[in-house]
Amino acid sequence: MDNAQEKQQQQPNATRRSSVSSEDSVSVDGAVTGEFTDRSGDDAAAVVQLGFAEQVEEDERDEAFGHEAFPSKIGGRPTWLNPTKPLPAERVLCGVCKDPMTFLLQLYAPEDQPAEAFHRTIYMYCCPKGACHQASWRDCFRVLRSQLPRDNPDDEEEEEEDDAPIWQLSCTPGVVCAVCGLHGSKQCSRCRGVFYCSRTHQILDWTVGGHREACGKASILPEMAASMAARRDRCLFAEREIVSEPEGEGEQAVRTDALEIPHRMAETYAKQDKEALEEEYEDTEVHVDDAFLAFQQRIARYPDQVIRYARVDYTKQPSRPLWVSDLGLPSMAEDITPCSYCGAERTFEFQVLPQMLNFLRIDHAATDALDWGTLVVYTCTRNCHVPDESYMDELVWRQEFSRDGLQDRIAPSPAAAS
Ligand SMILES: [Zn+2]
Ligand SMILES: [Zn+2]
Ligand SMILES: [Zn+2]
Ligand SMILES: [Zn+2]
Repeated sequence: MDNAQEKQQQQPNATRRSSVSSEDSVSVDGAVTGEFTDRSGDDAAAVVQLGFAEQVEEDERDEAFGHEAFPSKIGGRPTWLNPTKPLPAERVLCGVCKDPMTFLLQLYAPEDQPAEAFHRTIYMYCCPKGACHQASWRDCFRVLRSQLPRDNPDDEEEEEEDDAPIWQLSCTPGVVCAVCGLHGSKQCSRCRGVFYCSRTHQILDWTVGGHREACGKASILPEMAASMAARRDRCLFAEREIVSEPEGEGEQAVRTDALEIPHRMAETYAKQDKEALEEEYEDTEVHVDDAFLAFQQRIARYPDQVIRYARVDYTKQPSRPLWVSDLGLPSMAEDITPCSYCGAERTFEFQVLPQMLNFLRIDHAATDALDWGTLVVYTCTRNCHVPDESYMDELVWRQEFSRDGLQDRIAPSPAAAS
C-alpha cells in the first residue's frame, strides 16, 4: 500500500481531479468526474471509464462522501442512496464464516431508463478473510443495486437544470451500525446510545473499538472519541474516493515498469515482457496466457486504474471485460444467470482490478491474504424496479490469475507440469 501511495504522489496527473467540489461532479464529456455513466445520449459510453482511487483530506470528507455528493468510493462506510433504508446485515453475511462482510466499494452510475434508475448506485461487499474466499469465493461477495427516481420523497428540493439535486432529507435517516454503517438493528443494552448491525460488531466495538470505556459515560474527551473512531475505522477497508476518466491511448500515463499487482506470482510474472516470454518459451510446450499478456498491455497505459466501467445501453452489443487469464471464464449460460427479479439478461457493467488490493490495508504477506485477479460485475439490463425492495441482488464473477501457468513460467518443474 505504501508503495502504491508513493507512486501516486510521484506521478502527479494534472488531468485528474485531486479534490472534490460540487461543480466538478457534474458529468461533462471527457471530464474527470465521480459519475460513471454518461447522460449526454451519444456513443461516448462505449468508451471504457477508468476509476482511480484518490485520498480525500479529512476536512473534505463530509462534502466528498455526503448523500448530496452521490459518491463513488472504496472502503470506509457506505453512503446509502436512500439513507432512510440502510442495508440490513442479513443481506451481506459471508456464506462461509457467517459474519457480516466488509463494505468494498460503491459506484454511482445513474441511468436514463427506467425513470426509477435516475439515481443508481451499485454496492459491493466482500468477506475480508482470505480463508473464506479459498473455501468458497462465491459465498464471499455480494453486489447490490439501489436506485431512486428523481422525484423521490427524499429529494424534495430540486434545482432546475441540475443533474445533481441538493439532497433534502424529509425523513429521518435510518439508524446505522457504529462500526460498519449497515442498518443498526441492535442496540447497546447498557447505554442505549449506540447501534450495531450484528452481535459480531457489538462485540468488536466493545473489545476493539473502545466502547467498553465509553459506554454509559455522559461525555467523552475529544481525544478519546478520535481514538475510538480510528479504531473502528481499522475494522474496515481504507477509505478512498473513486474518480473516473475516460480511457484514452494513455500517452501521458505510459509507464515501462511493472504493474502494481499484489499477487506475488503475478508480480514476478508482470516484470517480464511479452517478447522475452515468447522468446523464452518459443521451443517449449508451455501455455502462454494470451489473455494475461493482453491485460498487462492494456492496463499499462494507466497503471493506477482500479475500476474499468463499460456498461452500454442494452440495445447495443455489450462490451467485454478485460480478463486476466484464458482460464476461469464464466459460462454466460450457466454462471451469468438472468436477473432474479425480472428475468432479463444481465450485462457486464464494471470490473474491479487487482490494483485495488493495494488500497485496502491488507497484509499481503499473509498466506491467506485477500486476493483476486479481477472481479467482474453483471447487472440487470433493464434496471428493473422492484416495489418495496431497496437493494436488488446482482452478480459478480471472480477470476484469478492463472497460477498453473505462472508456476510453469517462473519455476518449470516436472511436479508443476504434471
Ligand atoms: Zn467469511
Ligand atoms: Zn456492523
Ligand atoms: Zn453502551
Ligand atoms: Zn431485473
